[in-house]
Amino acid sequence: MTHKIHGHIDGPLVMIGFGSIGRGTLPLIERHFTYDRSAFTVIEPSTEHAGLLAEKGIRHLPLALTRGNLREVIAGLFPGGKGFLVNLSVDVGSVDVMMLCQELGVLYVDTVVEPWPGFYFGSSMTNAQRTNYPLREEVRELGKRYVGGPTAVSCCGANPGMVSWLLKEALLRLAADCGRSAEAPATREGWAALMQGLSVKGIHISERDTQVADRPKPVGVFTNTWSVDGLLSEGYQPAELGWGTHERKLPPLGHAFDHGPGYAIWIDRPGAETRVRSWCPSAGPQFGLVITHNEALSIPDYFTVWNGGRAVYRPTCHYAYHPCNDAVLSLYETNGAGVLPEAKHILTEDEILSGGDDLGVLLYGHEKGALWYGSRLSIEEARALAPYQNATGMQVTSAVLAAMVWAVENPRAGFVEAEEMDHTRCLQVQRPYLGKVEAHYTDWTPLQNRINSFAENRDDSDPWQFINFLAN
Ligand code: NAD
Repeated sequence: MTHKIHGHIDGPLVMIGFGSIGRGTLPLIERHFTYDRSAFTVIEPSTEHAGLLAEKGIRHLPLALTRGNLREVIAGLFPGGKGFLVNLSVDVGSVDVMMLCQELGVLYVDTVVEPWPGFYFGSSMTNAQRTNYPLREEVRELGKRYVGGPTAVSCCGANPGMVSWLLKEALLRLAADCGRSAEAPATREGWAALMQGLSVKGIHISERDTQVADRPKPVGVFTNTWSVDGLLSEGYQPAELGWGTHERKLPPLGHAFDHGPGYAIWIDRPGAETRVRSWCPSAGPQFGLVITHNEALSIPDYFTVWNGGRAVYRPTCHYAYHPCNDAVLSLYETNGAGVLPEAKHILTEDEILSGGDDLGVLLYGHEKGALWYGSRLSIEEARALAPYQNATGMQVTSAVLAAMVWAVENPRAGFVEAEEMDHTRCLQVQRPYLGKVEAHYTDWTPLQNRINSFAENRDDSDPWQFINFLAN
């Protein structure tokens, strides 16, 4: 089968991290770019997959990047003021790598604003300081220094990333279905006004991972379909969400931020223990976890309508994540034990028996109730589409590919997030890897489907208040 070449990578290509996402991204780079293989380096401390790199003739630097060696290692790999760095690691400070890439004239993509070790665990910082809000604000502030610099795409995997492109498609779909003009706006203000005009009160990043393994998860082994370290890190940050202008009352333990534009709030409990009622097509009503993510901040920020200095419209936005069953059980064990697990396992495509990943956006509170719009990809489809990845990985790696293509085509965009990229072009690149992209309307609200009546925080005057979603 021949694959469309989307572009050429001019200069050295460096990948940091060769875990589940790095390995899955590799075949997509090989298919869709031309590049100089002799100038392709993977920096990965583990030697577990060194054989694969050797087989492909890709140089492997088996070392862990640190604050101390970052400059020396990376600058040495980009001598000519050009090239591409794709950062798919944990424990490597994204901000430092982004700044270095600006200095070196190198294009950059990552999937998360990753801090150096010491932020997520064992930190002396307050819980408010351990949220994603200050991490994102630092990147946004820094971006102002590099306007017109080499493109650096921050936080572009499936979510954060692809979901912001799907959200724009969903808005156009909703507009058309409501009999409004469905012209794609050309500016941020236009998109925010479109969402406001459709009276969308909020957005769940709604995910149900139904992938099951061929054998039961052993007790004590934290099992997931993507980075265990990544899920633990974000799961034990405080829950965090974009805070809509329709919300009347902070949730229990909810706090506003005391600095910056204030588009989000945080809750003084871990996201991995904060459940909301949500909805997705494979399960219908379900619980999701409010695990903090960059898109829960970038989406409400992007879709805010300002009048003078006052936000007159903003949607509530957060992740509502039902991980695979093994990860739900793993989190349950970890929460109960109160200590981080030592044994960790990422399910490979060969170990997964069945299931898939539904990942989309649930737009609620508008005249049609709620609309879920997203990718429904099965493990069988993922296996057939590309090697080294399960359904969850495929949604992420294809978004990394789209971000890389967009960066090559728009090389002087400075720091950007997914909302600021051309969603049509990005989804055009990504769509062959997404399985079915579907729209589902539902009349579900979070006040439905309650078993027996219990005293709970709720607001019956408006089903779409955050308090009605919050389950504990
Ligand atoms: P993984 O845990 O499988 O792999 C991470 C890799 O980073 C490991 O191989 C590890 O050895 C390497 N690493 C650790 N310390 C390093 C260092 N100091 N220098 C260089 N490499 C180092 O994780 P993954 O599933 O491949 O995910 C990679 C990243 O992508 C994570 O940050 C994860 O949170 C993120 N992610 C984002 C999305 C999204 O949709 N935006 C989805 C999945 C994963």
